Amino acid sequence: MDDCIFCKILKGEIPSKKAYEDEQVYAFYDIEPKAPVHILVIPKQHLPGAAAITPENSAVVGHIFEVIAQLTREMGLTDYRVVTNNGADAGQTVHHLHFHILAGGKLGEMA
Ligand code: 5GP
Ligand code: ZN
Repeated sequence: MDDCIFCKILKGEIPSKKAYEDEQVYAFYDIEPKAPVHILVIPKQHLPGAAAITPENSAVVGHIFEVIAQLTREMGLTDYRVVTNNGADAGQTVHHLHFHILAGGKLGEMA
């Protein structure tokens, strides 16, 4: 997607601080961290959000959660929150599926 910020990050057109990468997935530090550790994990395939997950493309979501488990383990993070926002009222501002990893301290109550 030409006008997608995260596709531009994947293409290297916008710089980012990488936390992890493989063939399917890219993880990078959020530019405006909402917790001491705030990482975004995205599929390399452009999907607009959680509502676009289907039986045909859902395997990458399982893989993303494997990556989250591995990355947090390697970073020594035992306590963390994983969030995805779908739609403007839920706080979605970037329409490329992404999972926030929030960690590094006592997180406020949510959900
Ligand atoms: P959303 O609000 O859609 O759930 O999450 C989008 C996230 O992307 C926000 O936390 C925001 O700070 C982050 N973000 C937006 N633009 C950039 C960028 O250019 N680089 C990085 N690293 N994060 C970004
Ligand atoms: Zn995209």
